[in-house]
Amino acid sequence: MSARGAFNPFEMARAQFDRIAELIGLDEAARELLRNPMREYHFNIPVRMDDGKVKVFRGFRVQHNDARGPGKGGIRFHPQETIDTVRALSMWMTWKCAVVDIPLGGSKGGVVCDPHHLSAREQEAICRGWIRQIARNIGPVQDVPAPDVMTNPQHMLWMLDEYETLLGGHFPGQITGKPVGMGGSLGRTQATGYGVIYTLREALNELGLSPGETTASFQGFGNVAQYAIALYHELGGRTLCVSCWDHRDQTSYSFRKPGGIDLEELRSITDRFGGIDKDKAEKLGYERLPGDAWLEQDVSVLIPAALEHQIHAENVHRIRPSVKVVAEGANGPTTPEADQVLVERRIFQVPDFLANAGGVTCSYFEQVQCNTNYYWDQDEVLDKLDRKMTAAYHAVSDLARERKLPMRDAAYFVAVNRVAAACRARGWI
Ligand code: NAD
Repeated sequence: MSARGAFNPFEMARAQFDRIAELIGLDEAARELLRNPMREYHFNIPVRMDDGKVKVFRGFRVQHNDARGPGKGGIRFHPQETIDTVRALSMWMTWKCAVVDIPLGGSKGGVVCDPHHLSAREQEAICRGWIRQIARNIGPVQDVPAPDVMTNPQHMLWMLDEYETLLGGHFPGQITGKPVGMGGSLGRTQATGYGVIYTLREALNELGLSPGETTASFQGFGNVAQYAIALYHELGGRTLCVSCWDHRDQTSYSFRKPGGIDLEELRSITDRFGGIDKDKAEKLGYERLPGDAWLEQDVSVLIPAALEHQIHAENVHRIRPSVKVVAEGANGPTTPEADQVLVERRIFQVPDFLANAGGVTCSYFEQVQCNTNYYWDQDEVLDKLDRKMTAAYHAVSDLARERKLPMRDAAYFVAVNRVAAACRARGWI
């Protein structure tokens, strides 16, 4: 099944929320407030292309909830971006910031575009156009963007420069994920992938396993997957399979090496969007398989780190009995139906908004450093990140054990309760 198709991620995010609202007995007003975004913006971004013609791109920013602090969330560039994807992601950001207990709310943005087919100048024009449309509705104390799928530190710096030009001043805390040396934090590039592995390490420990006796298969080979693989290998794990999107063939492939993939070797034949050169991979001895083969490997750990809606009712049964843990690097990779099957099969899950919260946690550290104008060294950042992620993991897993809840329900329980409490404390409900 395609990653998107008729699937509506916002319906899924709401279904997850409704289930938890019922479980924790949330009152009607809180349900109404939290199942809808507080605000959303839709706008056009006209850009003069390199051929002289003007093309109009569609942009979005959705602010789901800011009761716990300024909204926080990435901006995605994707040809199939939809407002419902952005709505779902903004809601998940609210839960993510709450579950790691950082004083931020949830937002998300996007532009319908494919950077594969845009020059650097055109991408810069989209970044600056996006800011011009939304500048009055975001800000360091309102809503703070960051990179996400197909956006990077350079895009963030163009956006910040446009924002600072419009407002006349320096506001480095306005956008995170900036290049190091330009207000960015050391460790931000690694943060999401490392965070996935910090939580996986704790999960394996609870299951009585050490990373060294496990193997993994990843969907995706972009920022999150590459740094997760790096730390997982450092801890002794072996990755047998990775998959990626091939934009030339407009399909996905998986690449497998029985003894395990060599991260540096694969990185050297991967483009900046996480696409592996299939011909070079085959020459290096990788077996090329269909895109969804990553899911049906004989491994102990599955890490979806590409897109939402990748483990669903039609393919969940293909997951092998060897799999003990699914650690979700991507946002919303498992549908509620597949989730139920994984729970029944007692496959331990580290849910997305806990597992991949390393990025936003480090973004928060970046804001703190920008606000004090004093920058920490990498060890300090990663040490703080590990402590924050590990504490968040145990708050969720303790509750899961105490109340006999699956990990996803326990994570929602913690997060939704914290956000509802903030809304109540402010007198909103
Ligand atoms: P990225 O653009 O760097 O990489 C995405 C990877 O997914 C690429 O390797 C791409 O080829 C692959 N991919 C795309 N479509 C695919 C498909 N149909 N099948 C297989 N592979 C496919 O993105 P990223 O930053 O690594 O983000 C990955 C996921 O993690 C997204 O869901 C994103 O929302 C989530 N996430 C990212 C961050 C972050 O800090 N980067 C933080 C939290 C969550």
